[in-house]
Amino acid sequence: MSNKTVVMYGATWCSYCRALKKKLDSIGISYQYKDVDDPGIRAEMNAKTENNQTIPVLFVGTDYWINPGQEILDAQFSNNYTDEDEQKGEKTLHDVIMIGAGPTSLAAAVYTSREDIETLIFEKGVIGGLAAITDKIDNYPGFEEGIEGLQLAEKLQKQAERFGAKIELGEVQSLKKEGDYINLQTTSGEMTAKSILIGTGSEWKKINIPGEKEFYGRGVHNCATCDGPFYRDKKLVVVGGGNSSAQEALFLTKFAKHIDILIRKDKWRASDVLIREIKDNDKITVHFNTTADEIIGGEVDGMTKVTKVIGTKNDKKIDFITDGIFVFIGLRPVTEYLKGSGVKVDDKGFVITDKKLKTNIEGIFCAGDVRSGATMQIASAVGEGASAALSIREYLGALK
Ligand code: NDP
Repeated sequence: MSNKTVVMYGATWCSYCRALKKKLDSIGISYQYKDVDDPGIRAEMNAKTENNQTIPVLFVGTDYWINPGQEILDAQFSNNYTDEDEQKGEKTLHDVIMIGAGPTSLAAAVYTSREDIETLIFEKGVIGGLAAITDKIDNYPGFEEGIEGLQLAEKLQKQAERFGAKIELGEVQSLKKEGDYINLQTTSGEMTAKSILIGTGSEWKKINIPGEKEFYGRGVHNCATCDGPFYRDKKLVVVGGGNSSAQEALFLTKFAKHIDILIRKDKWRASDVLIREIKDNDKITVHFNTTADEIIGGEVDGMTKVTKVIGTKNDKKIDFITDGIFVFIGLRPVTEYLKGSGVKVDDKGFVITDKKLKTNIEGIFCAGDVRSGATMQIASAVGEGASAALSIREYLGALK
């Protein structure tokens, strides 16, 4: 047991915070939870973290981490692990291991576990994936008024768990087919599975301009639901001309007093419905033919802050005075752990499958946003998850 004081800063609306709380609780760490919705607590966190504007923040003594991953928790708290935790790492044979607990795997797990196929899902971040950190999902069939992303994620999780699927908060680091089975290296140790579902989805692309790295979490963000509430009555810049940028900018108007959207082309790539809503919103100004070139900031009242974005509009330099910048310029597949596995990916890194969602390696299936040709829609991800589960059932049946 660490004798250092453990403090977590978070908020009820933050799904990453919920995930971290769950991990700390599962290891049995006693910690003080501080809600940053209280302005005094937020000021305290800002002061202790050089004005970081991203939660959760975990303090162990005087060291702190923003949204710490499993490796950090392992390094800090391994003394707290019980025999049962240690045993999780022992080599065991699973019917199917699903990687990533987004809508794809959760839907697949409803099908597999309901048919008594023993199912283990690994998640390194938030259960529900990108859907869980989306404010409102308006186009998922069956919810006539729309549904909050977090709520949909919870429903999917509960349904999968009702049939016996197990979710492990940890990371798959690599995998390799050996003989009939697939061996996985994970943060819980080595594991073996008869079949695998790759369902790791995608994550936000970085814009790669000066200042992005330096001010990340302190004025540069990718998650409106998580970090938007820090910008009440502030000015913001949003970059991107797709559905995500339009939808998230509309959400950010709940907090910000004005938003400049920078789109590098002369038109949107978003749906007409969203474009109309943007036009009707007098808090938003859209700048076409405009790029974000550099993020500027520095010490303001002893805190690190973003102060402006230097852009180019119609070939002329332009300054956007702002308190923060949210970047929504598309998604990239999460596939690092597939390096060395032999699973084929396309030129953009998305996993190639056939119509039955089989990869080139027998026993390894893939579905959802990480798959080459995916439509990047939650309803499709759920549908693909169900289809993949049926293919897995067929494969396991033939293996017996
Ligand atoms: P998209 O790829 O659709 O759009 C990305 C936007 O960012 C484009 O305007 C693109 O410009 C721009 N962009 C890309 N790279 C850069 C860069 N380096 N600098 C500046 N701008 C850049 O991504 P989204 O995240 O918006 O959407 C991903 C998928 O998810 C889509 O299929 C979308 O339809 C779907 N989605 C659906 C939703 C819904 O149905 N409600 C909600 C959110 C997402 P350019 O056009 O010049 O390439």
